[in-house]
Amino acid sequence: MFFIAVLLMGAAGLFGLAADAVMPKENKVTQEIKINPVYCFNKPSESLVIRPDFIGCIIGEDLPLGQSEITESTERPTDLHPHVLARFLSAQAAAKAEGVTMTFDSGYRTLETQNYLFQRAIKEHKTPEEAIKWVLPGDLSRHPWGLALDVNLHHEKSGASWLEANGSTFGLCRVYENEWWHFEPLIAPGGVCPPLLPDASHLK
Ligand SMILES: [Zn+2]
Repeated sequence: MFFIAVLLMGAAGLFGLAADAVMPKENKVTQEIKINPVYCFNKPSESLVIRPDFIGCIIGEDLPLGQSEITESTERPTDLHPHVLARFLSAQAAAKAEGVTMTFDSGYRTLETQNYLFQRAIKEHKTPEEAIKWVLPGDLSRHPWGLALDVNLHHEKSGASWLEANGSTFGLCRVYENEWWHFEPLIAPGGVCPPLLPDASHLK
């Protein structure tokens, strides 16, 4: 039986060689299966899970982090973007595991609130040109789009420092040199954050 099996294998090998010899090279199709990682915040385990794309995030169990930079949608939201929340929750859980406390003091703001903060900043900084380095008006800020987080602003700076060092894993980046607390979803989770901008007057 073993002998027959070897013979058959030998025959197949010969046939394979023969087929190879007659088949033009360019007709050979090389199929590469690429599996992209999908980032999800797993609610039961309260941690980041990375699943293959053919499974994706599990509805009811996972919150998706999104697979790219998160940009303004066509409609004004009424809350933080759900992918931004999932990114923050994943980062917060990872920081907690290392003994670092991280909260966000401000995320989504209404246009009215953002405009009020801008007017207040003009009074504080004397001119709109100086104020805009710290607070953007409603139509320019990404807070009313639910796409910005002010992390640990009124708490320990160490939480924001942790996020600056580790945020790219979760797709969150510090944006400005003068604001250690302000983070935006500028990249896909696992990407590389761009260099810091000097201040908010330098819009992306
Ligand atoms: Zn901010």
